[in-house]
Amino acid sequence: MQFGNFQIDAVEDGRFGLDGGAMFGIVPRPLWSRKAPPDEANRIELALRCLLVRGEGRVILIDNGMGEQWDEKGRQQFALSRKPIPGLEASLAAKGVHRHDVTDMFFTHLHFDHAGGTVQPDGSLTFPNAMHHLQASNWHLAHHPSPKDAGSFRPCDRAGLVAGENLTLYDGPWQLTEGFDVLLSDGHTTGMQLPRIRAGGETFVYCADLIPTSAHVHLPWVMGYDRSPVETTAEKQAVLEEAVAKGWILVFEHDPGMDACRVIQDERGRFRPGEVVDLGGHGRTWPEAQVP
Ligand SMILES: [Zn+2]
Repeated sequence: MQFGNFQIDAVEDGRFGLDGGAMFGIVPRPLWSRKAPPDEANRIELALRCLLVRGEGRVILIDNGMGEQWDEKGRQQFALSRKPIPGLEASLAAKGVHRHDVTDMFFTHLHFDHAGGTVQPDGSLTFPNAMHHLQASNWHLAHHPSPKDAGSFRPCDRAGLVAGENLTLYDGPWQLTEGFDVLLSDGHTTGMQLPRIRAGGETFVYCADLIPTSAHVHLPWVMGYDRSPVETTAEKQAVLEEAVAKGWILVFEHDPGMDACRVIQDERGRFRPGEVVDLGGHGRTWPEAQVP
């Protein structure tokens, strides 16, 4: 999809499943299960939606899914599936991009469902010609996680990354290129960075795990995985208010049925998904959004 100087496309790494209760924190199951029906193991289907941004002489990939460094037990545990939606390399190929073409590998954070595709099963980097970009505080947390965070970071997802060589670490806001900067968020994990792309009169924000699905546009719907749900709620509110005021398009990494949307506020001031924006991702699998 062309927007001004940038071509912006959703590229997916298949689907996976996480516990529905953990995805919606304190929200009661009767509410979230209407929006996201769980399977027999209480998991809900989630997307691994990365974003391919081309322009200004760059081929930028935002997050890289779960990759192939999984044994059968891990694949079963997370219901990792590449059918009928194929993996990331096939999704990139459908857009005419080979993994060697990627110039910039942008990490929102290093959790396994965002950075799992960084390294090939043979130990080589998947995007050997790319500079990898990450906040320094998230790099530090990945190496020294708290007991709550430890299960989300895997050393195999950062093997071969060397700061100053193929990895650039940032301490705060920065700009990748003209029209491409970041918003910072610490509620989900320390040093999560959300790309903000201004192109063709539109502003896109890739929400990563701040607003993982369109259901999480509702302010109190915050994940149980978060380090600080109170901080997440405040950070979400700031982004949502600006999205409403300025007509931003929010891109959802984990929503299985919606690439992106604008945000509206209803008569009670509650944030709601507005106009749906198609970025070439895959089809809807959840039932139509129901107001909780
Ligand atoms: Zn995460």
